[in-house]
Amino acid sequence: MSVNITAASLAGRVAVVTGASSGIGEACALRLAAAGARVAVVARREQRLAELVTRIEKDGGTALAITADVTDPAAMRIAADRVRSEFGDADLVVNNAGVMLPAPVQELAIDQWQQQIDLNIGGVMNVIAAFTGQLVAAAAERGVADLVNTSSIAAQNIFPGFAVYCGTKAYVTHLSRQLRAELGPNKVRVSALEPGIVGTELQTHVTDAGALEWLAGAKESMEFLDPADIAETVAFLAALPPRVNLQQVTIMPTGQAS
Ligand code: NDP
Repeated sequence: MSVNITAASLAGRVAVVTGASSGIGEACALRLAAAGARVAVVARREQRLAELVTRIEKDGGTALAITADVTDPAAMRIAADRVRSEFGDADLVVNNAGVMLPAPVQELAIDQWQQQIDLNIGGVMNVIAAFTGQLVAAAAERGVADLVNTSSIAAQNIFPGFAVYCGTKAYVTHLSRQLRAELGPNKVRVSALEPGIVGTELQTHVTDAGALEWLAGAKESMEFLDPADIAETVAFLAALPPRVNLQQVTIMPTGQAS
């Protein structure tokens, strides 16, 4: 098996990327479009999405901006209808929107717990509810489809102060393993992406002083991953022969131990 990703590797594919207005999602949208997929980009910041679509189109790609909140199930159903009517059934869903709001559990930052649960679990499920039918239909027609859920090494490791975030990501990883067993027989590959630290806006939402200090120390001690590193991996797994499914992909900065 050899995979050489060219400008036509994903031609004919219909991708949906949530959380595409920055960071990993934005990089994935750019990379998938450069590999020939038509890409629907989903997030709340309309202007960012418009700029992204312009960039993709300038490079000869095709993209559709869908300004929507993934925590709203009705908005996701509308998004899915739009994708189908503009591009046909989605066959590559990068279920990526997420937020990380660490704080020691005894501080009872209950609003932030809920925000992470609503987005990292609820949002992920809304996207799955809206797009699974399309993935199955597309796989039946085209021979393969991909559901790529962005988890984290937080799903596996212990990070004091990050318990709720880690819990939401453990949910995503375990869910992905379960869905793989259900959807694999329908030719839908399910993958859990588990990156270590990537330099994105994720860290800018952190308010907890201890976590900020830890992140600043981490930045001093290692070179963070670039979002494009994750995007390259997503393009690679989507370009693999239909029989091959990378079920769980851990991608670490070389300098990050765990
Ligand atoms: P960013 O903060 O750069 O991106 C998060 C994206 O999610 C943005 O596009 C944001 O757009 C979108 N988003 C947030 N809330 C919603 C919502 N309610 N509805 C729709 N979109 C929403 O962070 P990353 O790129 O780093 O994060 C992407 C994923 O990667 C997350 O799931 C994160 O947990 C995971 N991850 C990140 C790591 C890192 O170190 N950066 C490591 C491991 C995993 P908008 O505000 O416009 O809606």
